[in-house]
Amino acid sequence: MTLVTVRVVMVTQACRFALDPTPAQARALRSHAGAARFAYNWGLAACQDRYDAEGRWWSGAELHRLWNAVKKTDPALGWWGENSKCVYQEAFRDLDRALREFIRSRKGARKGRRLGFPRFKKRGRCRDSFRFCTGAMRCGGRTVTLPRLGTIATHESTRKLARRLENGTARILSATVSRTAHRWYVSFTVEVDRAVPERHARPGSVVGVDLGVKTLLTAVDDHGGVIEVEGPKALRAGLRKLQRLGKAHARKQRGSANRAKAAQRLARHHARVADIRADALHKATTRLAARYETVVVEDLNVTGMVANRRLARAVADAGFGTVRRLLSYKTGWNGGRLVVADRWFPSSKMCSGCGGRKPSLSLSERTYRCEACGLVLGRDVNAALNLRDLAASGAKRLNACGGDVRPGSAGQPPAKQEPGTAQAGETGTAAAQATATPAADTHIRSHHG
Ligand SMILES: [Zn+2]
Repeated sequence: MTLVTVRVVMVTQACRFALDPTPAQARALRSHAGAARFAYNWGLAACQDRYDAEGRWWSGAELHRLWNAVKKTDPALGWWGENSKCVYQEAFRDLDRALREFIRSRKGARKGRRLGFPRFKKRGRCRDSFRFCTGAMRCGGRTVTLPRLGTIATHESTRKLARRLENGTARILSATVSRTAHRWYVSFTVEVDRAVPERHARPGSVVGVDLGVKTLLTAVDDHGGVIEVEGPKALRAGLRKLQRLGKAHARKQRGSANRAKAAQRLARHHARVADIRADALHKATTRLAARYETVVVEDLNVTGMVANRRLARAVADAGFGTVRRLLSYKTGWNGGRLVVADRWFPSSKMCSGCGGRKPSLSLSERTYRCEACGLVLGRDVNAALNLRDLAASGAKRLNACGGDVRPGSAGQPPAKQEPGTAQAGETGTAAAQATATPAADTHIRSHHG
């Protein structure tokens, strides 16, 4: 019998449920989304006015005070009481954040794509969404309860979360309601007590993971076992249909009713494909983190690659960034760790047999053939092997807290930059950021004994 020591950590996590509102509730949802959009635009206009006059804008808190003063006196705003007042306040907070991010981006303090000045939200052009952070937020059976909106039926069971809320191991911090092309969702931000083992159940186990364009991922473990995760059939079929719908949309005359209809069909299907993909990635990463103590992935330059139009679709579809984000916290939950290879580590160009390197390897070459030692291996398997072996040499590590650990002298010296990879270098920092920033929906907040 083995004794496993467990520590309890508080984790912020997102729980999303699809909603099945009644027609009256759907009206109320639209009304709240409209109110949030209105408040955001109202705040943005107020900020622009003040900026023109005084060279600075209002903070989120100031806007909220301003709004509270105006809403009762301006008869044109008489409808404000139809929606939860929380929604307006949160819209001002969103605007505040958008303005700050704009400034950070302009100063160069924000990594990734340059941000423009926040724009007005147009109905039908922006994502319908609003947020609650106070008031009655509950779930149970196949329902959720939200402030002002009351109890709304959900598409799937909320039992798991309801049980955790009941026994006090989870607390709802906020609820964001949003609409994709085909339905409404509520996403609860939940603080959860999570038991994390001090050590992984299979100490010493290692797996190298190559994230693919065609296959979802290819992995090789410390016993040489190869794991290939294809995107689910539904995803591949979905992608084909997506392409068909995209073409159909492009053929329709601009501004025509048929084009609008095609656009709606395309968007609805796109949302469905994204759901299938997210689900597949969740399943694959859960399995890897449970089975292996150390998971090694490549530090792919996601921003750089998405800028490359030819690869854009494939990369976005495979969700490289998502895989890494999911792995970074799931390994932590299992008492394991995620190792991210240096972005110059030539995982695909290096021979896993003799360590020799090819000067170049095009993406179309699916088989690795080594002239030096005669090794012939699937390109993805070869890359996964190199990544697996990197764990022993100690590369940049990301632990569950999202902090970097770079085991000093053992670190792999960066490989010489190859001609033709310069672009990757220029935008390389963006990739590093994708792994180092705390996960958007989950990060460990604090530790207890
Ligand atoms: Zn070789």
